[in-house]
Formats: sequence, C-alpha cells, structure tokens
Amino acid sequence: MKAVQYREVGAAPEVVTVPDPEPGPGQVLLKVAAAGVCHSDIAVMSWPAESFPYRLPLTLGHEGAGTVAALGDGVTGIAEGDLVAVYGPQGCGRCAKCAEGKENYCLRAGELGINPPGLGAPGAMAEYLLVDDARFLLPIEGLDPVRTVPLTDAGLTPYHAIKRSLPLLTPGSTAVVIGTGGLGHVAIQLLRALTPARVVALDVNDAKLELARTVGAHHAVLSDERAVDRVRELTGGLGAQAVFDFVGAQPTVEMAGAMAGVEADVTIVGIAGGTLPVGFDRLQFDVAVRAPYWGSRGELREVLELARTGDIEVHVETYGIDDAPAAYERLHAGKINGRAVILPNG
Ligand code: NAD
Ligand code: ZN
Ligand code: ZN
Repeated sequence: MKAVQYREVGAAPEVVTVPDPEPGPGQVLLKVAAAGVCHSDIAVMSWPAESFPYRLPLTLGHEGAGTVAALGDGVTGIAEGDLVAVYGPQGCGRCAKCAEGKENYCLRAGELGINPPGLGAPGAMAEYLLVDDARFLLPIEGLDPVRTVPLTDAGLTPYHAIKRSLPLLTPGSTAVVIGTGGLGHVAIQLLRALTPARVVALDVNDAKLELARTVGAHHAVLSDERAVDRVRELTGGLGAQAVFDFVGAQPTVEMAGAMAGVEADVTIVGIAGGTLPVGFDRLQFDVAVRAPYWGSRGELREVLELARTGDIEVHVETYGIDDAPAAYERLHAGKINGRAVILPNG
C-alpha cells in the first residue's frame, strides 16, 4: 500500500510503498478514508536527530477515519464496514487516568512504549491503518469522514482546553483565540457553541482573519504589537477571562499573558516552545497558566455530538495521497485555511 512517511531527520515526507498490514489478535484494520494534516507534524519534522524520539521511517497522520476492513481474532462489538474515527492519544486502558477515559494522560504509556498513530506508531496517512484496540474507534455513521477526521485532534484538543475554562466564560466575558488555523478555527466555533463569551480571534493575515469571522469570531484582530492594547480596549481595560494560544511561540505566550485579566486562564496549546513565567506581579492576580495535551475519549464523543448537531463544521482542503508532501509545504508556508485532509484511497 501507499504511505506518507517521514524517513530521515531533516528530509521532506515521501510517498512510498510499504507492505499491507494485517490485523493480529485484538487489532482492527481500517481502510483509511481521510487523514488530517496537523502542524505538530511540522514540529516533529523539525526536531534534531540527537533528541528525535521515534523510530524512522514513520508513517505520518495522527488524525484518521475510515471503514473497518478486517478484524483480528477476538475482536467484538465492531463489524466490517463500520465507519469510525480513531482516538489518537492511546493509553494502557488500566491506569488511574485511563480509567477516567483520559488516555491522553496515561501514566504508563511511556514505560509500555505505547505511541499514538503517526506520532511514534504507524499513522493514518496510508491506505490502511492498524488500530490496536476497538475501544479507540468511535462510530461516525451519518457524518462525512473528510470533514469529521480533523475533529479527532483539531476539534478534540481545543475542546479539552476550553472545557476547563467554561466556569470563567459567563455572560459578559471575553475569550481570546490566538492562531485561527486548524485548531483555532474550531476553537472559535466551540466557544460560540458552548459559551456566551465574546470571542476575539488573532492571526497574522487577512485570509485567516476572514475565516475567523466566518466561523463566528465577534472580533478578528491582526496579531501585531498593537494586539494587546486592542484586546484591553475591547474589554474596558480589564483583559480577557480566558486566552487560548494555538501558536505557543515566545511572542504569542507573552501576548497571551499580557491580555489575561484578574483570575483568568491562559492555555498554551501550540508547541512552538514559548514559556510564560508565573510569579507574583508577573501577570494579573491569580492568573492560571496551563499547557494541556490532546483530550479524553469521552471528550471526543462529545465533540462528535457537536458535529452531529451542526454546531461545529471544519473547513477542509482535500488532497490525494501523492499530494500529501505538497499539503505539508502549504501548511508550513501558512497557506492552508482551515485543515488539510489527505484522502489515501481516492
Ligand atoms: P495551523 O498552522 O493550522 O494554525 C496555526 C495558526 O497560527 C495559523 O493560522 C497561523 O497563521 C497562526 N499564527 C502564526 N503565528 C502567529 C502569531 N504570531 N499570532 C497569531 N497567529 C499566528 O496549526 P494547527 O495544526 O492548528 O496547530 C496549532 C498548534 O497547536 C501547533 O503548534 C500544533 O503543534 C499544536 N498542537 C498542540 C496540541 C496539544 O495537544 N497541545 C495538539 C494539536 C496541535
Ligand atoms: Zn495534531
Ligand atoms: Zn493508562
């Protein structure tokens, strides 16, 4: 089968032919309908050889959806032909965090060598994907797999981040979204669907800001040196109750801190390496700063429900598998509006 692989540190991803996988006991084979292109892959492909954590070559793609093509021995509760989305941050299923459904925070994944598809284990950017356990597959019957696949990360990650800040986002409050790309444009819709907060979106160019407005931002503000003042102005000088940074670079995390009002939440989702010092008088009183990772299995169910009710809709650009390297180039250049999705089988 064809697969999109990162083969060598520093090289561009390549489309190659690899052996068709076969499901072992307990495993499920998916025929992949859609695989999302995430900016985290670009970060992974920029890591130096000395500290690169995964074995190469690595088949990319940590957002996957498709139909069940074959079941390994002993798999029950799922049938060939079922349309499913893959829960990516897979855990051991047994530790205290996994017991809560928070497999994204599995306490034993590292020790057991469990990696998400596309981030250590072979990913979804291939004609077929092996999934280690049926519990990682959520039914998406009735939904379009292409528009649904980004919800497994670009939907789930902002949902998990926003959910913790819901108590702050009361009527009259303001939420700021920094970076309105794949994750950010879903974050805006989640904030609109789940809260009465005013949503202020920041990005670096007009196309991105236009998408932010289209998906529901009340204000779309250019992310430049005046952005902090603009947010202060929009909030009567007080700052926002919650700031979600989907870039996570040094300038954006500093901006996020400066925009946060008293008792606000600053959530750094982007992995561009920025750090925000916390200490008395650094930020407004009692600001909480956190850096979450992906989301729980239960939360993915909830996100899929929001897609079913039409509350969130991902803007997608689709590519055939041979064009996946070009999709990564466009994402790297900031040219994707919404999420790029690869269709490995068509
Ligand atoms: P993306 O490229 O689709 O979106 C990023 C957006 O940020 C783009 O629209 C870009 O124009 C904008 N941007 C860049 N610099 C900016 C600045 N200075 N101010 C405002 N906006 C700016 O990327 P994505 O796939 O949505 O991922 C976003 C980030 O989240 C990445 O760092 C990714 O690695 C990370 N991520 C983290 C998790 C997690 O669990 N913490 C999960 C998924 C993705
Ligand atoms: Zn991702
Ligand atoms: Zn676990």
